[in-house]
Amino acid sequence: MEICGKRQFELLEKMSFVRMGGTEQELAAANILMDEIKAMGLEPVLEPFEIEDADLVAGELEVLRPYNKKYVVRAYKLSENTPEEGLTAPFYYAENLTAVDLANCKGKIVLINGFTSTELYRKLLKAGALAFITMSGTMLETEENSDLFTRTLRETTRAFGNMPGANIRITDAFEIVKNEASLVKLTAINKPVTRTSHNIVVTIEGSEKPEEIISFGGHYDSVEFSKGAHDNAAGSVINMEILRYFNENKPKRTVKVMWYGAEEMGLLGSKAWIKAHEDELDRHLCMINTDMAGVVIGYDVARVIASKEATAHCDAFMRRKGYNVGVTQELYSSDSVPFADKGVPAINFIRFGHHVGGTFIHCRNDVKEFLSEKALAKTTKYVLDYGVELVESVVFPFDRTVPAEMKEKIDKYLAKKEMEEAKAAKKDK
Ligand SMILES: [Zn+2]
Repeated sequence: MEICGKRQFELLEKMSFVRMGGTEQELAAANILMDEIKAMGLEPVLEPFEIEDADLVAGELEVLRPYNKKYVVRAYKLSENTPEEGLTAPFYYAENLTAVDLANCKGKIVLINGFTSTELYRKLLKAGALAFITMSGTMLETEENSDLFTRTLRETTRAFGNMPGANIRITDAFEIVKNEASLVKLTAINKPVTRTSHNIVVTIEGSEKPEEIISFGGHYDSVEFSKGAHDNAAGSVINMEILRYFNENKPKRTVKVMWYGAEEMGLLGSKAWIKAHEDELDRHLCMINTDMAGVVIGYDVARVIASKEATAHCDAFMRRKGYNVGVTQELYSSDSVPFADKGVPAINFIRFGHHVGGTFIHCRNDVKEFLSEKALAKTTKYVLDYGVELVESVVFPFDRTVPAEMKEKIDKYLAKKEMEEAKAAKKDK
């Protein structure tokens, strides 16, 4: 089978719309993928799962002293609500979150640089902040050429306690700090809702070793405002081409191709799939994840969440075949992590955009115009070729293990220690 960049690009264009986890648009994208699969004569399985989300009700920051002005903010989803009439308190800009900063946070509405991490959030809670405000964007943005993002207070962060939070444009934060705001009123209200997202799964039974499974995957959802061409319609269409290949060339081992929903909300699709299919995971020899591809100005890498042997095998394969891919043993934040967490070696293939302005993700500028058929086909070729190598090898080339040094990184990434701590703290109360 000839890899066809044109066919891939056409499918990518079809799903070029905002498709956030659990929305009707995400389901519309799933249906586009399913139609493509059915046209090959295959039967996709659509697996629903529930996700926690929230609707935004109100978001405003009003400076009361020394001047008066109202700014639009976005309440953090799943954060505690302010009173309906707003929360009035002194304002503090904690620019560095040093001990000095923290000593000044008590009883105040606190603005921080950028976004918060679980660690910083815990410090703010402990310091007695009443609410937090984060900032996003760049100083070059205008209301016409950019969007104000909504953030979510993740479960691992909320576990330690909740407080009202909001996100503001950096240009507005600049004005507020420059004019030395001292008293503000924050209104940030959201309403938790349960939504349904979906994974798509196609299985092609192996002819010789059906009990051994190699899975190919990637997420098909996007974040708000983003058509997600690079991240990750590109990976979605690469996996479609891989499915097409194994449909025409029956595999020796069983091949599963999966499209995950709600990855951008915290790998929710792959986590849900793992939870629902834990019984078959010991048959999975490897997971190959493709998350971001297709950009013209960029470069290809493989991030291997597995043993040194698996990494060396992948690296040697790329060298031998002359594929220009930088291979490292490294964690990558994507749907591969929940698999590796269960001991399944996981390999991420990524074509990153050049880091300064080559492409954009997670915003309105993640569009097909920065991608090309050729760049898409280039990544597809080596992902498929490596996949065939694994699926068809006489004896599987590396062991089904995830070594301790990678497990440690996974545990840290999944904030397992923090979750344990939060659980213990709750019990103590
Ligand atoms: Zn992605």
